[in-house]
Amino acid sequence: MTALLYVLVAVGSVSLATEAFLADRNDPPRQALLALALSIAVAYVSFALSLLPGLEAFRALYLLGGCAAAPASLWAIQRTFVQDEPSSTRSTQVVYLGTVAIAPPAALIHLLLYEGFPRLRWPGLIAGAFAFYGFGVALQRLWAAQEATHLRIDRNRMRYLFVVLATAAAFTALEGLARQLGPSPLPQQLSLSSRGVALQGPFPPFSTVFTGLGIYFLYHSVVMSRMLDLAELFSRITTILLSALALVLIDGLTFLWVDTFTVYPFHSAFQIFLASLVFLAAYDPLRERMAWLANRIFDRRSAQLKSVIKQLHGRLPTIIDTETLVDEILGGLHRSGRVPICSVYLWDDRLDAFRCGASRGHGELPPLQMVADHPFTTRFSRGAPWYLRSGVRRRAQHDPEQAEVLALMDAMNADLTLPLTSGATVLGWIHLRDEAWSDGYSAEEILLLEEVARSASVVLSNIRGFQAIEEQKRLAALGAMSAGLAHEIRNPLAGVKGAAQFLQAEELHGEAQEMLQVVVDETDRLNMVVSQFLDYARPFELALDTEDINQIVSHSVMVVRAGGIPDGVKIVEDLDTTLPAIRVDRTRMSQVLINLLHNALQAMPGGGTLKVRTARGRRRGGTRTLEVAVSDTGIGIDPEVQEQLFVPFFTTKQAGTGLGLPICRRIVEAHEGDLEVHSADNSGSTFIVRLRVDDLQGERGH
Ligand code: ADP
Repeated sequence: MTALLYVLVAVGSVSLATEAFLADRNDPPRQALLALALSIAVAYVSFALSLLPGLEAFRALYLLGGCAAAPASLWAIQRTFVQDEPSSTRSTQVVYLGTVAIAPPAALIHLLLYEGFPRLRWPGLIAGAFAFYGFGVALQRLWAAQEATHLRIDRNRMRYLFVVLATAAAFTALEGLARQLGPSPLPQQLSLSSRGVALQGPFPPFSTVFTGLGIYFLYHSVVMSRMLDLAELFSRITTILLSALALVLIDGLTFLWVDTFTVYPFHSAFQIFLASLVFLAAYDPLRERMAWLANRIFDRRSAQLKSVIKQLHGRLPTIIDTETLVDEILGGLHRSGRVPICSVYLWDDRLDAFRCGASRGHGELPPLQMVADHPFTTRFSRGAPWYLRSGVRRRAQHDPEQAEVLALMDAMNADLTLPLTSGATVLGWIHLRDEAWSDGYSAEEILLLEEVARSASVVLSNIRGFQAIEEQKRLAALGAMSAGLAHEIRNPLAGVKGAAQFLQAEELHGEAQEMLQVVVDETDRLNMVVSQFLDYARPFELALDTEDINQIVSHSVMVVRAGGIPDGVKIVEDLDTTLPAIRVDRTRMSQVLINLLHNALQAMPGGGTLKVRTARGRRRGGTRTLEVAVSDTGIGIDPEVQEQLFVPFFTTKQAGTGLGLPICRRIVEAHEGDLEVHSADNSGSTFIVRLRVDDLQGERGH
């Protein structure tokens, strides 16, 4: 049993540390934690083996592992808690170099001189004393770090870790000394288990329990940094302790009650087995009750959050519009008292940016209104499950991308950010911030909140799906109606125009001729509006073919040139000739480009430069695209006008129809592309058509 405990702690520590390491191999605290766990595991496993008959020589390896644990613990503490201080002070160097110089020779001498002796003797004593010096330096660093920190909760946690590690070191020393100084039976005749106990020495292996606890604490500090609330830890330990106590009580009582162990061991073991079975059957509901009780005692805020999250899970699937969804999530989280500050950002098609949908209790820092594309979103689309400020802050020291994420989190006032995604597309995110004095969110809370974000993502993409279907239905109805309406308008219009033209041929003079010309011009205009409206509203089929986009661009520019360009306007083509061919409807795409080119020319009444550029690009979510950008140096577009650009019939021109851009967007979206606008007042505008590169689908109806 003694040996088993050592092995269990070794295995547990290494699994925890490996799990942490595999999640982020470049993070120095995780590397250090793994080194510490491995050295402890080597020491413990070899100690356990050395308790077996004939394997006493493993004490040499125990010595080596134990000595390595000292610099490893120093390294882990330096990396995890002491960030600003230079890592190579004199005492640190003494510990690192001294271990390399002392431990291997000591182990070797022990192996050569004392093989077969369970006791360590002088090489072990010297190496052991040096290792304890190393532990002392590590503990002193930890103490200094907790004194330097100004976050109350961080200080508490470091103190707690200090107590656990110091107790582990003290017990290790005590047990070791007791082994050396106590009576030394060479337990040849003892059973295997009694031999293990005898060799362990007079003290039970308390040190293993505290060492395991220390690694567990360190693991939480390394992996989740601010996440582990002390309260949560207490509540977990209490749950486990209460469960263990209940089991001991039940089995113990059964053991006392069944006093026939020596006479009928088989029967009695069966009784205890039955008692344990009853306990295990009742364990699950019991554990829930105990966890609930412990939560209420130690972790009240968290318990409230959990109950709100449970309610949210029931409520979310019934929601069918975005406002209610945002309202329910923020309202619920804020009401729980666990999330004093929170906000939701959602992608806004019209702005081509993420916009703050709503927020609660934003404190001294109001939320940002808008966020454009950023590593922040690209990392989410690559599958990052959340950003936790403390973790991002630590990684930002050696990763510039994370530094950008951190800057944005700070600007948005967030401790924890959970993405709202649909596949690789980021729809938005939820920001949460805890009270400044608190320890942030615990691992369990983050997992629960992640669940909420996941359900919200599903609801959000469903809502978007409904909206798209609604829009399609609306357009289909509009298309059918407008075709009839256009017919009704065009026929009489043709009659009116014909009549006017007939009268024009008559001998009428002056004003009468002018009036007839007005009638003809206005009927032409009305006819154009009707045609464009039909173009916008009528369902259409794309005739997709594999095309060179540069050719389409050049052709469109040629058409526009042929129509005449104003004086003082220069047209520049900047085409990337290495672009791959893509599937587009040539006629429709030319229509889009010609419209954008016309708009650009009209925006430069006094002359300027119209530039058409083609290039490779990437879309939100990382898919490869081709871009056609039409830029002018004209009047630019006001932000208020920008919001309306794609609204049908919105125009600022006297003779405009306001249907050009909505038609362009429809055509581009039918190609599964995007149409973006960038413009600043008075410095021109750029319209970018973004098309998928790998579009190998056949024709699709719209
Ligand atoms: P129309 O050209 O008939 O007005 P559009 O839908 O093509 O309809 O354009 C809508 C509005 O967008 C225009 O009235 C104009 O205010 C604005 N706009 C479009 N392109 C530009 C541009 N390149 N520069 C400035 N404003 C533009």
